[in-house]
Amino acid sequence: MNKKQTIDLDFDRQHIWHPYTSMTQPIPVYPVTHANHNLIHLETGEQLIDGMASWWSAIHGYGHPVLKNAVIEQVDKMSHVMFGGITHQPAVELCKKLVAITPSKLQKVFLADSGSVSVEVAIKMALQYWLSQGVTSKQKLMTPLKGYHGDTFAAMSVCDPINSMHSLYQGFLPEHVFVPAPKTQFGQQFDKLEAHHLAQYFEEHHQHVAAFIIEPIVQNAGGMNFYHPEYLRTVRELCDRYGVLLICDEIATGFGRTGKLFAVEHADIEPDILCIGKALTGGMMTLSATLTTDKIAIGISEGEAGVLMHGPTFMGNPLACAVACASIDLLLEQDWQAQIAHLNDALQALHRCNDLEHVVDVRTLGAIGVVELDTVIDVAKIQAFFVSKNVWIRPFGKLIYLMPPYISCSGDITTLANAIYAAIAGKHY
Ligand SMILES: *Cc1c(COP(=O)(O)O)cnc(C)c1O
Repeated sequence: MNKKQTIDLDFDRQHIWHPYTSMTQPIPVYPVTHANHNLIHLETGEQLIDGMASWWSAIHGYGHPVLKNAVIEQVDKMSHVMFGGITHQPAVELCKKLVAITPSKLQKVFLADSGSVSVEVAIKMALQYWLSQGVTSKQKLMTPLKGYHGDTFAAMSVCDPINSMHSLYQGFLPEHVFVPAPKTQFGQQFDKLEAHHLAQYFEEHHQHVAAFIIEPIVQNAGGMNFYHPEYLRTVRELCDRYGVLLICDEIATGFGRTGKLFAVEHADIEPDILCIGKALTGGMMTLSATLTTDKIAIGISEGEAGVLMHGPTFMGNPLACAVACASIDLLLEQDWQAQIAHLNDALQALHRCNDLEHVVDVRTLGAIGVVELDTVIDVAKIQAFFVSKNVWIRPFGKLIYLMPPYISCSGDITTLANAIYAAIAGKHY
């Protein structure tokens, strides 16, 4: 190892924030020099099998030649140009693809730069739509508990109030209507009481509710809850009945992760507004999009403002759009359903953890595997163990989970599952 290339961990510790981390008591960070395929290489020499796909995004693994080529070809033409008053081929091509692969009602695309921003835009669309219709009373959102929609303020205001510590920002955050989290699990018999309770919330609050926002089928960072499609179908029906728009946040679930290209397909419903991000560029860089219907777009455009009041500096970034086009083509050109089914088979190895103390549930859906404990995990401690086993897994709360790159082979999934078993059995948490 060339000494001059040493990553300055001391500087990092003293000056750089990491996600959800203390500046005085940070948990260790591991210095990474490069990543390829499904391997993350540490400066200290270890090669780690990746179980996280860098937070759902790197579906094709790292450094895929097709994605690298897309970046190189585009950077030769232009890396960025403003989107105000200008358009370009990568944006047009990407939006054509997105309109084609998402539910058919969704015809209008807003390109934004991160998942949270796409949620902000979705919320603005809903509020501006009702204002354009002369309805001024609809200023709240409705959303289930255990949700996660991002860290900017409007997105945070619809996250689970306890997980995202709303109490910290009391008085600053708008107060929305929270309904019970979906309870019946995916694959179980739907409990009709859930539909009944939802209906009561709509009945009571609909006059003030512009939109219902939900992660379809899998509630992700709020608890990895895999819920029954009938819950989502019920929400769709109630939205229609009570004049509430439906925003589906597919930022984590989009692009095949749950076994369908988009998780709304499990329930066979179409949202009025859809947010996508994370795997959109195959994890190469940040990009998100908010799609909506002709009806909402026309409503907004005929309203008082006459325009949608949003426009990020890096909107429609050509580099990100070009790599997103390449990533979508790469995914759709292969038999991705078979690959996800294959990963799901391999993830069944996690069920062995059911025999261990403190394990309360093991569940899988598509290319997601979850082991839930009855106790909060010491992330620093368990990560040190995982690194010693040459795997990269980052649990949160009481959950150890896998969402590997789709290119992972079943042998690697077995290695990841065995490491989780060993971590729990050896009480490395
Ligand atoms: C990650 C995530 C977001 C936020 O996306 P960022 O790119 O981190 O801003 C929003 N919603 C869901 C469901 C997510 O998983």
